[in-house]
Amino acid sequence: MKKILAVLAMMTLPIVAHATVRVVTTLPDLADFARQIGGDKVTVDHIVRGDQNPHFVEVKPSYMMKLKSADVFLMIGMELEMWAPQIIDGSRNARLDVVNLSKSIHKLEVPDKVDASQGDVHRYGNPHYWLDPRNIRAIVNEIVASLIKSSPADEQFFRTNAEAFLKKLDTKITEWEDAMRPLKGAKLITFHKSWSYFAAWLGLDVVDQVEPKPGIQPSPGHTAQLIQKVRAGNIKAIVVEPFYDASAPQQIARSTSATVLRLPTSVGGVDEARDYISMMDYNIRTLVEALK
Ligand SMILES: [Zn+2]
Repeated sequence: MKKILAVLAMMTLPIVAHATVRVVTTLPDLADFARQIGGDKVTVDHIVRGDQNPHFVEVKPSYMMKLKSADVFLMIGMELEMWAPQIIDGSRNARLDVVNLSKSIHKLEVPDKVDASQGDVHRYGNPHYWLDPRNIRAIVNEIVASLIKSSPADEQFFRTNAEAFLKKLDTKITEWEDAMRPLKGAKLITFHKSWSYFAAWLGLDVVDQVEPKPGIQPSPGHTAQLIQKVRAGNIKAIVVEPFYDASAPQQIARSTSATVLRLPTSVGGVDEARDYISMMDYNIRTLVEALK
């Protein structure tokens, strides 16, 4: 009998010791961070694909099902994911820990008052802060805190993994800054206002956007103005995410000497962007090649 009990205890023990934290994120980039920190103590799923516009995601019942069984939901906030409240409500998961990662971020382009002047999708300021890698430390710290809340016994494990990841990231940040230093002040046009934090970090000059306002479709009048601007300003590149229609940028490029660059803003946006670090590697490499 004792022997049977001992065997039973051994069979149940691993399940008790491995209280896996179930994490769902909006962006695949956040899923990457959660995996780096959580290792085998977490399961991680994400909602937005890297080749999808994170502002406009069609709400599906399967997203609510993902949240129904989750412990932690990680989101960028600042209304990037305007569709998120609907899936949170729809999940009917009262114990879900919803973590808005923007809390301690120094935010750019925050309007004095919330109105439509920033377009339809940046009403609370620019939410694309994850493209400045120096903001990842704050994101990681929030994720560590939320994982500890769900699994206090694994605190040291999460902290050790987070530090190892941030150390690796710091080395890459220095490498990226060194590669981009000769391009300081380089002028760019971007399709959407996704690159403000990235440009502020590297000292790039984003002159204008192909969208007249964030979330608003390109117009012939605005495109014609941009052609003049690109000619007058010797602007070499038009940066477009893989999910936007490139016909207006290509029209500008045909009338000027600028090149259209397809740069991902999230993991999976291009094949080379397997995780956050390889995505940034790809973006820096492509810009250096195009702007040198
Ligand atoms: Zn945006």
